[in-house]
Amino acid sequence: MNYPNLKDAKIRSDKEVETIMVSNIKSDVFKDKKFYIRTYGCQMNVHDSEEIKAILTNLGFTETSNYEEADLIAINTCAIRENAHDKVFGFLGRIKHLKRENPNLIVCVGGCMPELESVTNMLKEKYPFVNIVFGTHNINDLGQMILDYTDKQDIEVYSIEGDIYENIEYNRDSKYTAWVNIMYGCDKFCTYCIVPFTRGKERSRRMEDIINEVKELKNAGYKEVTLLGQNVNAYGKDLKLNYNFANLLENVAKTGIARIRFVTSHPWDFTNEMINTIARYSNIMPHIHLPLQSGSSKILRLMGRRYTKEEYLALYHRIKTCIPRASITTDIIVGFPNESDEDFRETLRVVNECQFDGAFTFIYSPREGTPAARIKDTIPLEVKEKRLQELNELVNDYSLKANQKYLGKIVKVLVIDKSEKGEDKVCGYTETMKLVNIEGAVEDMGKIIDVEITDAKSFSLDGKKVVFVNN
Ligand code: SF4
Repeated sequence: MNYPNLKDAKIRSDKEVETIMVSNIKSDVFKDKKFYIRTYGCQMNVHDSEEIKAILTNLGFTETSNYEEADLIAINTCAIRENAHDKVFGFLGRIKHLKRENPNLIVCVGGCMPELESVTNMLKEKYPFVNIVFGTHNINDLGQMILDYTDKQDIEVYSIEGDIYENIEYNRDSKYTAWVNIMYGCDKFCTYCIVPFTRGKERSRRMEDIINEVKELKNAGYKEVTLLGQNVNAYGKDLKLNYNFANLLENVAKTGIARIRFVTSHPWDFTNEMINTIARYSNIMPHIHLPLQSGSSKILRLMGRRYTKEEYLALYHRIKTCIPRASITTDIIVGFPNESDEDFRETLRVVNECQFDGAFTFIYSPREGTPAARIKDTIPLEVKEKRLQELNELVNDYSLKANQKYLGKIVKVLVIDKSEKGEDKVCGYTETMKLVNIEGAVEDMGKIIDVEITDAKSFSLDGKKVVFVNN
């Protein structure tokens, strides 16, 4: 048994990061058994679930989308906001009876939430039917934990700075687009954020390992990779090998893979070298997710974001000047403790100036163990809700306006899936990360095609495939 400890989780030492080669256990012990996995949270968690799926498949399981028929249920959790936390416990409440009916059912809870002491204690005391509890640092141990599974609850959660794992296998959700981890953890310690505690210190994979993975994906037919990290712009700083994220982007671009994206960028580390690299390579997609969080420098200081409103705006305009076609999306938190009405108005003014292509907006949610959770929160919930509603109306308005600029234009779309908008439709993304529902392209799965945009909504575009006829 290993329990988490938030004090240990925030330690940052000079300890050298080890690169550990994962040994992928193969067994048919669970042949003919089914697993169900539920994932909450960010892209990092989605990608971690692809690793969990590979671990389970390697043990003989096959995936089911119906948890009621599963022999193993895995929940990959998120600790960022209260509602994700509530959803996990809500789901555990819903599956409790399944364990009563089938004592052989294996229930696993992993990811960010067990990294919090209070959650692990709660799982121990109130959810003893959860068999296996693991954290973000030992996903690769899950296979062995399942093989060793007994009726007793097994809790293995480590509060460590973390290492780098190579040779990981993934059951990727898509055959055309792939996540590629370039780094793990975060050292920014924004005052509201639990990630530096749950994911450990910033540690980068070596460039050659990333490039090899991208080349393998390209050879396997993948058209797009998204380079993944909590703060990708900090890539390479810990390696002290004289290369940075701009160098990595350039080398990934030189592999010739059709499309490259990256998430997430912290405005503080976003260099001109990066902007120039994105501008120079046509296979680096002109979409940048640039979290603002607040338009008030006072609130940004309280959030520990390391930039002012003016610095954010200067960066925004530098990007738009160098890459005029870039779409920029953002994250905004409303109702951070001490956010006055004037602070909120400042956020609206920044939104009016930037006219973002899209924004994820949230009401501030205090997270146990973070410095912000200790600041007295005096803003009534109804004020926060009103602010969120006003902000959403504004950002949706700008999303619609940004999308309307595409009307009548022909754009390149990578077709990735069937569309929810009808059996004869497929969907995909423009270079600028706009979702398009497309007519006349059911044969084009996995291809980059020309699409004429016929309608624009706040969150998606409609279009039809264009076929150019040679004379
Ligand atoms: S940069 Fe800030 S918000 Fe993003 S993961 Fe790190 S601490 Fe959290």
